[in-house]
Amino acid sequence: MAESSWPVSLRDGHPGADPPTLRNFVGGEFVEGGRRFVKRSPVTGEPVFEVAEADRACVDDAVAAARAALRGPWGRMGERERAEVLRRVADELERRFDDLVTAEVADTGKSISQARTLDIPRGAANFRAFAEIVATAPTESFTTVTPSGGRALNYAVRKPVGVVAVIVPWNLPLLLLTWKVAPALACGNAVIVKPSEETPASATLLAEVMAAAGVPDGVFNLVHGFGPDSAGEFLTRHPDVDAITFTGESSTGSAIMRAAADGVRPVSFELGGKNAGLVFADADLDAAVAGSVRSSFTNGGQVCLCTERVYVQRPVFEEFTARLAERAAALSFGWPADEATVNMPLISRQHRDKVLGYYDLARTEGAQVLAGGGVPAFGDARDGGAYVQPTVLTGLAAGARTNTEEIFGPVVHVAPFDDEDEAFALANGTEYGLAAAVWTRDVGRAHRAGMRLDAGIVWVNTWFLRDLRTPFGGVKASGIGREGGVHSLDFYSELTNVCVDLT
Ligand code: NAD
Repeated sequence: MAESSWPVSLRDGHPGADPPTLRNFVGGEFVEGGRRFVKRSPVTGEPVFEVAEADRACVDDAVAAARAALRGPWGRMGERERAEVLRRVADELERRFDDLVTAEVADTGKSISQARTLDIPRGAANFRAFAEIVATAPTESFTTVTPSGGRALNYAVRKPVGVVAVIVPWNLPLLLLTWKVAPALACGNAVIVKPSEETPASATLLAEVMAAAGVPDGVFNLVHGFGPDSAGEFLTRHPDVDAITFTGESSTGSAIMRAAADGVRPVSFELGGKNAGLVFADADLDAAVAGSVRSSFTNGGQVCLCTERVYVQRPVFEEFTARLAERAAALSFGWPADEATVNMPLISRQHRDKVLGYYDLARTEGAQVLAGGGVPAFGDARDGGAYVQPTVLTGLAAGARTNTEEIFGPVVHVAPFDDEDEAFALANGTEYGLAAAVWTRDVGRAHRAGMRLDAGIVWVNTWFLRDLRTPFGGVKASGIGREGGVHSLDFYSELTNVCVDLT
């Protein structure tokens, strides 16, 4: 079994003098990959990890290891055996729970309470859910009348796609990674995962978890690095990768799609959003305010499903906006290890520059800043981090850049509307189509919203409530395909139709 090299006694993102090294995982072994890069704490800016960046040869080795694993015992396992392996992975994730929380907090600066209640439990839940789904999913069967009046039996069998590249972002690292790895393994594939350069730690621990759970060598491989001219591009351009599943920015999706065009490889894309919230005058306003605070500021606004535009029906606009701004201004910053902390920094100084650029642009475009709009001052090591204030804006034109481009930070613009048609049109007036949150007590309107909003998911009187059996994905620039439940099985497996003439 691979050695465990998990080193850390990290507290609040403070690593101590020597940042530990995280390595690639290829064919069941931790390996170097060429150069190294430094991962910095979003909380303090100090180095937290040194990471071995996979060069082209390392990626080649990972792809070869995955291909070899498909020819071994893994390739001959049935669904129920694989489901059993997935359950062991979930058990092992739960056993390493505290290490995984530490890893996620060190990489992202998110609060320990969120990592404990959302990120890590969801990682284990993904494996349990897909163990269940793959073991119980039926395939179709038809009895067909033949030209001679006899009968033929048509049925479908699921086969693995093969070697799957899994490329994921930094905002919910383990959750989004396992959302793809679990169904890919459930369907019998071998994977090479490329976590974000900003969040290498929990994926490295997942490699240890895989080994400890008895996943055969080469079934799960991990390569660290960046996108262009690094591990991400080497992997997506690799001719022996059979399918690519990606979560990240829409522009990165375009680049990966070009890479996937060679060899006509299938892609599954979960991309960006500019999600709308709609608050109708008949809504429970307390719930709408509390829900909009969550949907705008959870995870520092760095969830693809976060709301960056809220449209409020005119009779309740003033009250809603004042309450939202008051709540945003009151969101306090604490150290990640403090149980009471809800706020978190952005992932990096680079991302902070982008978000602050939009705060400036909003002012230039004529916005009024109702809360936030700048950088908090701490008077301690957090001043070296990547914090920004939760921000509420109003007064922008519908077509303003701040109101149409994905910012991916703790910022929301609030604007009034008069009637349902206008509300749906405003919500749909974007190139994106990932999620919407509708606050209303009118049952008919709730269902009309589901029908008329261009989004992969429409929440009514809630936000971020997920059932892993449901289809998840985006329309327009927010994605291609659906994952979740049997929809994941459809991407991670090939269906062969077997037609038997019974005459
Ligand atoms: P990103 O697109 O910059 O990076 C995502 C991953 O792709 C990283 O691992 C990165 O190294 C890699 N990458 C970058 N360029 C590449 C290339 N040319 N070839 C191969 N790999 C490449 O995204 P990010 O900044 O890490 O994450 C934030 C984005 O992710 C936001 O747009 C957000 O909306 C989106 N997101 C979407 C969902 C969803 O389910 N729809 C979920 C979470 C995040």
